[in-house]
Amino acid sequence: MKREASGCGSKPRRRGPFPDVTLEHVRVSCAHCANAECIKECPTGATFRAEDGFVLITQERCIGCGTCVDACPYGARYMRQVGQMLKADKCAWCYARVYEGQKPVCVEKCITGALLFGLSSDPAIKAALEEPGVDVYHPEYNTKPQLYRKSPRPRHNDVKVLAPNAAPSSMKHRAWAGEGHGRTCPKAAANTSTG
Ligand code: SF4
Ligand code: SF4
Ligand code: SF4
Repeated sequence: MKREASGCGSKPRRRGPFPDVTLEHVRVSCAHCANAECIKECPTGATFRAEDGFVLITQERCIGCGTCVDACPYGARYMRQVGQMLKADKCAWCYARVYEGQKPVCVEKCITGALLFGLSSDPAIKAALEEPGVDVYHPEYNTKPQLYRKSPRPRHNDVKVLAPNAAPSSMKHRAWAGEGHGRTCPKAAANTSTG
């Protein structure tokens, strides 16, 4: 089981057969899969899908077993200390911000505009999804991830699209703040604090 907190970072990935191998850095964060293994494996229901399609964690129900960390084929989950316990965490697509009509922090702060976030019905998102080379990470896992990326790509011209299923207007407000879903990821918080 992975126990270290990893935030929402990137991982190096080798691409292509030898000798035409390239190394690229792939953003690895929760893809809010439509067929999410983490939801299936969580024994307490702490991991669940919201009505709008987001995959979220109710921290109060998390017993820190780490099953979801092992179940996620992307390594998108990690454990973090909450009081005396370790609890699971992951990218929540800045749920509270999106609910309020804002963009996720990483999308807003990215200095090259490499990140896009929105509905697949949005013309800009739709156009990005139709660009050559846009795909999901490891489609063979059959988790139906909703985090897309463009590859291969020239440096600083990457396109990643986070596209939840339903319109934000359909989101039903819940006690997210009390459940901890409004937090930002550690890296995003650090980026925010340093401007
Ligand atoms: S990326 Fe991993 S943690 Fe996120 S929904 Fe998919 S299986 Fe779950
Ligand atoms: S660590 Fe928490 S969220 Fe993950 S499977 Fe266990 S109870 Fe569910
Ligand atoms: S800033 Fe929000 S959307 Fe971006 S990686 Fe962190 S939690 Fe996920």
